[in-house]
Amino acid sequence: MTQVPALSYSSYRTYLECPLRWKFLYIDKLPEAPRGYFTFGRVVHSVLEALVRPMVLPSARRVGEAESQRTLDEWHAPSGPAPTTWMTTEELLALYDRSWLSDGYASPEEENRYRALGRELLLRYHDLLLREQPHPVAVEEHLEARWDGIPIHGYVDRIDRTPAGGLEVVDYKTSRDLSNEDARDSDQLSLYQVLVESNYSEPVEKLTLYHLRSLTPLRTAPRERGALLTLHDRLGTVTDGIRSDAFEPNPGRQCSRCDFQSRCPEFRTVPVADGERLRDLVDRFEALRAEEHRLESDLRRTAEELHRAAEELGVHRVPGSRSVAIRRKEVAWQYSLDRVRPLLERSGVSDRVAGGTTEEVRRLVRDPAVDPEVRRRVAETGARRVKWYWDLEKENGA
Ligand code: SF4
Repeated sequence: MTQVPALSYSSYRTYLECPLRWKFLYIDKLPEAPRGYFTFGRVVHSVLEALVRPMVLPSARRVGEAESQRTLDEWHAPSGPAPTTWMTTEELLALYDRSWLSDGYASPEEENRYRALGRELLLRYHDLLLREQPHPVAVEEHLEARWDGIPIHGYVDRIDRTPAGGLEVVDYKTSRDLSNEDARDSDQLSLYQVLVESNYSEPVEKLTLYHLRSLTPLRTAPRERGALLTLHDRLGTVTDGIRSDAFEPNPGRQCSRCDFQSRCPEFRTVPVADGERLRDLVDRFEALRAEEHRLESDLRRTAEELHRAAEELGVHRVPGSRSVAIRRKEVAWQYSLDRVRPLLERSGVSDRVAGGTTEEVRRLVRDPAVDPEVRRRVAETGARRVKWYWDLEKENGA
């Protein structure tokens, strides 16, 4: 039984993607190879932290913190610490140069591209900060909480004070594309909301993914309780899995960027002694699969040609040399659930299509226990579908 560590957003997401990879990272603590885009993100985040930190004003009151903690009231007081001035662009660029790391880039050209992009992002963002003059109350703050029994933690990029006295949680993103849906559906922002609400007494008013490449803040309202409960359930599933040592590999697209393929049973190599025998089997399987596809399409074309000829002649039985081909039809009624559901809801029998399948509607239409008027109205929404197919029968005596 594994003791469950506090879950960060990335730990939670890693477990959902692949429990075995989670184990390699968080239990075995195996290192991963550096990747340029991660290095880039880290450098930009660290420079933004240094840029904003001097401007952090006394933080909002925390729940249960010691008295030495500064409070929002102090923030209002004229005796509160005066903010320093923002870094100049020259200071910013010098800091960026000092902070730059070359780890993980595929080539010097790629590194140069990222480096130029970082300069551009930071300069534009610096300009925006000077114009907007936000009121940060925390930057790169590590927050921990126990959320109804589940330990969670995270580094929140920035927490701003809103004009109404609440808090805005800001997460910087250096990724290429980002949409309003990303902000609305972000489990990361939901987790940060819980962390901030657990540590601050001021309400969270906004959740923001800050898309640095376009200088676009993608803002959403804080999550409702129902959405948070859904996330809590998923975190519970993850903690249950960790506690019960459920570390199965989950192969998928994530494998292409996983550094642990050499340790993963999904990628175990065939022993040399068995290589030739298995290679022959794979080659045969591949050839048969190709033949199967060819035969399938040949069969379909022949049946269609036979069907057209039988239609023209108005026949259903066509003798061959050894067998008779018999044309049969299958009739089924299709229903649009979008049209059927309102009818059933009005009649109080919508539970009859709870599974959302056409078969349920067909059963309801045939069921004498259902009001005949309801059945008639549902039946009227149906469309008759005819499917032809061929059977083979041996000729008598063959
Ligand atoms: S290679 Fe794929 S299945 Fe194996 S640990 Fe990595 S992500 Fe999981």
